[in-house]
Amino acid sequence: MSLNLRSWPGPRLASVPEQNELARLVDHVIHIWSDLFGARTASEAATCMGWRTKRRALAEGGSSIRSLLIPMLGGGFSIVVNDEHCPSDDEVEWLVAHEFAHSLFYTGREPPCRIVAHTPQEEVFCDRFADCVTAPLQPRPNHADEGPRPAIPGSASV
Ligand SMILES: [Zn+2]
Repeated sequence: MSLNLRSWPGPRLASVPEQNELARLVDHVIHIWSDLFGARTASEAATCMGWRTKRRALAEGGSSIRSLLIPMLGGGFSIVVNDEHCPSDDEVEWLVAHEFAHSLFYTGREPPCRIVAHTPQEEVFCDRFADCVTAPLQPRPNHADEGPRPAIPGSASV
């Protein structure tokens, strides 16, 4: 087995964590981002690992896909956010965090390989992971009547 420099040094997932395991996992991942990379966000951590993140239009246009995680032959991943949907910077960070969560279900080999098959439950988990890791970045409402921040519709499905 060949590990590589672009390999995520933290936990990998062989199954979708239960809801009550999410907070501990998120805490663990955020500490690794911070301690090893000095990174606050998924996109900063990805950059530190040599992963590519970019915004571009996907396919020939009209794709409903919001973002993609692409395993690279030389290890690591490329995260592509579909620019056609004109995501805000906050939405881009959320989508990168969502795709980062998917990367936890891969080996550290060259190229990374899936440890378990993709499931709808994994999508839900990746959404929650992205909500959790981006939450500290959001401005905290000063008043209860400001309500929750809007959900991102049709978020990444791959
Ligand atoms: Zn997804």
